[in-house]
This record gives sequence, C-alpha cells and structure tokens, in this order.
Amino acid sequence: VTCFDSLIVDLDGVVWREGRIIPENAGPLAKLIRSGTPIVFLTNNSTRERRVYARLLTRALRTPITAEDVVNSGYSAARWLAKRLGPSPVLPVGEEGLAAELALAGHEVLTPGEWQHASAVAVGLDRGLNYRKLAAAHRAISSGAVFVATNRDLTYPVGDGLEPGAGSIVALLEASTGRIPDFDAGKPGEWILGLALERLRARGATRPLVVGDRIDTDIEMAARAGLPSLLLLTGVTSEPPEGLDWAPTLADALAAGAIGPC
Ligand SMILES: [Mg+2]
Repeated sequence: VTCFDSLIVDLDGVVWREGRIIPENAGPLAKLIRSGTPIVFLTNNSTRERRVYARLLTRALRTPITAEDVVNSGYSAARWLAKRLGPSPVLPVGEEGLAAELALAGHEVLTPGEWQHASAVAVGLDRGLNYRKLAAAHRAISSGAVFVATNRDLTYPVGDGLEPGAGSIVALLEASTGRIPDFDAGKPGEWILGLALERLRARGATRPLVVGDRIDTDIEMAARAGLPSLLLLTGVTSEPPEGLDWAPTLADALAAGAIGPC
C-alpha cells in the first residue's frame, strides 16, 4: 500500500478529458477534499489562469477549490522570472492565461510591437499563434532576452488525436534563433513541483502522492523527486509499462487498497 497525506493531481486526462469530467477520478477526489486531504492540481497547460481553473474545478468537483490550490506552467514561468529578474517587461507567446499570470506576478506584459523592451520571452501553447508574434519573439530572444518555455510538451492531446503543443512552438524558436531555452517551467521539472510542494507544506502536508496520466511528465517528475506516483489509464497512456504503480482509475486504486491515507 502506498500511503499519502496529500495529492498532487494532473488535470487533462485525470479530472477531465476534452472538457468532460471523468467521474471515476473526480468523485474520489471530491470526497478526499471534503474529508480534508490537501490537494494541489498541477498542469502544464498555460492557456488559462489559475483563477479560471479554480472556477472550473469548483464546478467539476462540486467542492470549493481556490486558485492557490492550482499550479500551472504559466504561473510557474511567471514566478521563476520574478525570482530571476524581479518584475520585468515580458513578451508572451501564449494565450490569455499566460499573460494574466505574468501580470499577476508583477511583470509588464508586452505586445509584439514592443519586443525591443523585452527582458524575457515566455512561450506557451498559443492556438492563436501568428507570424507577427513569432517574429517578435525571435527578435527579442536574438537580442538577448531571457528565453523561458512554459513546458516542452511537443504535442497536445485533443479529442481525436494530437496537435502541436507548447514545446513545438519553443522548438521553432530554438531553430530560428539557435538558442535553447534558459529555463523550462513545466513538468517534469523540479521548479514547478516545488511550487506544488510549497503549497502542500503550507497546509501541513509532507507525504504527497503524484497522480497523472503521462509517463514522461507526471510520473517522470515524481520519480526524479523520489515521490510515489500513480499512473491512471484515463488519459494518454493505455499500456502501462512494467514497474510503475498504475490503476485504470482513482476509484479502482482506492477500492483495491493500493493507495490509502497515512
Ligand atoms: Mg495529463
């Protein structure tokens, strides 16, 4: 039995898939939260700000979730930049959620026309990407701006397959500028995990279990940090490799007694 006093839980492929709630995971999560188990939701998705995720989770789990209990890669990038440079002019390549987290962390959010003033460029998934944004980011990075990737996921799962992820946009800028990112703010890195652990510690928890659907991000992150993990088959992974703790769903893992509170 793997015991835990708290959980670090991925969103896409665990809580929901394509905006559809996965009841076999969401039900047990809601129960755990109501019984007082601290849970941090941790996602590489930077398209929405933490506040928006908190609202969606509150509705999905029918239990109040605050923005402080959500960590995403946009917030992670914004926090890292604040630590490294202090509040700075930052050019985002990303959606609304990335710009919002940069602003909340005290940065000045630049438009493509203002690239000359950028101390840093933060690159996330951007489904409204265009050449003007890429050209501005290329020029700022080439001129020495700090180059931050929100994450390096090359693909982004959608209903019937895969589409390019943030990592593919980062790869384009790597190719054009000849620079590799100064920092990767996403899973499986230790910085973003640190933000989740910081929140759990503040709530008095020290033995988290990492729950996710992706081996190369969720499970890899836990393995690097020496934390226990549980791979669920409700997302992108259908064939669990040998040697990993896995279950079809969170409800199955709890019912089988494979995991339980410490
Ligand atoms: Mg996932």
